[in-house]
Amino acid sequence: MSTGKDYYAILGVNKSSSQEEIKKAYRKLALKYHPDRNPGDKNAEEKFKEINEAYDVLKDDQKRAAYDRYGSSAFQNGGPSGFSSQGFSDFSDISDIFSNVFGDIFGNGNAASGSRGGQRRSSPPGSNIRYDITITLEEALKTTKKNIRYKTYNKCSKCNGSGCENSKGPSACPKCGGRGSVRQQHGFITIDTVCQQCGGSGSVISNPCHECNGTGRVMGERNLDITIPAGIGPTELVFRQEGEAGYQGGPNGDLIVFVNLLPHDFFKLNGIDLYCTVYIPITTAILGGEIIVKDLSGKDHKIKIPHGTQSNTQFVISACGLYSRNNRRYGDLFINVIVETPVDLSKNQQEIIEKFSSDPAFEKNNPKTKQSQEQIDKLKK
Ligand SMILES: [Zn+2]
Ligand SMILES: [Zn+2]
Repeated sequence: MSTGKDYYAILGVNKSSSQEEIKKAYRKLALKYHPDRNPGDKNAEEKFKEINEAYDVLKDDQKRAAYDRYGSSAFQNGGPSGFSSQGFSDFSDISDIFSNVFGDIFGNGNAASGSRGGQRRSSPPGSNIRYDITITLEEALKTTKKNIRYKTYNKCSKCNGSGCENSKGPSACPKCGGRGSVRQQHGFITIDTVCQQCGGSGSVISNPCHECNGTGRVMGERNLDITIPAGIGPTELVFRQEGEAGYQGGPNGDLIVFVNLLPHDFFKLNGIDLYCTVYIPITTAILGGEIIVKDLSGKDHKIKIPHGTQSNTQFVISACGLYSRNNRRYGDLFINVIVETPVDLSKNQQEIIEKFSSDPAFEKNNPKTKQSQEQIDKLKK
């Protein structure tokens, strides 16, 4: 199952390429495929779009990190905004956390207490969770609803995620005084380091909740109704905020559902196209006729079989394959016809065939050793 477009390959760079290299590669390709330089060239236009899409993601460090983690599908499910900076913030982004902590402690005064339900943005977010689900091809035809159950951290209901035993809430860290960092003076140089006691959050819990040991979350199960859109295309579906609960009221991670398809007994899938094999009677193959083929949805399709149809002739019913969510179009249904040679002929039928076979007109056009004679002739040369 593909994980979407390879933006690195599109720009001809690799995962370790620097921003400068990416920019250079983009410029070169953009110039080459620019519509002004390729008027009326649909391929160049497509390529130009692709290059821009790839560059749009790779030039932005945050989007690039999301792409490295989830592939291009991260940008097709609700767009790049689907992965907001919040979901990816971590403690390395100390300056952001500082401003939040200051906002809580100085800006809102007592608002940092339990009544806020531990919604302080400075708390680390929960991790994303991967969930694998397998659906049938029939289910992939239409929008499918599934109920899934998975183990994850849920917000502690006792402390409502704050991690505090009572409503007093976290208090300013005594070591750093709520700053989250400790300042050290070395002569003329001042160095700020992350406070070891509060991990940079600026607050500590002196009365941790007994249920969650102050983490604000407990391991449990979650039940979720998910909707899998019709068709195939990005394998991963992102359900925002359905991952692990955040630490001490931090935002939830996301749930990433990987959708796999169960092989079908009759239809083989290739991309979004479906392939099947049907057998037709020899009389239909000779005289021509009509057969009925059911597609994946169970709908009947009449197919005209021309007279003189050979085995392995392919017929196509367009737009009867699966839907591509990426390209927004339907695949086709390819029907491979095999002419069935009858067995267990009655005496009467056998006589008819013998008569047919010994008809001089038939023998002339269909010599019994046609293929082998041709080969023999070739070998003699
Ligand atoms: Zn708790
Ligand atoms: Zn501290």
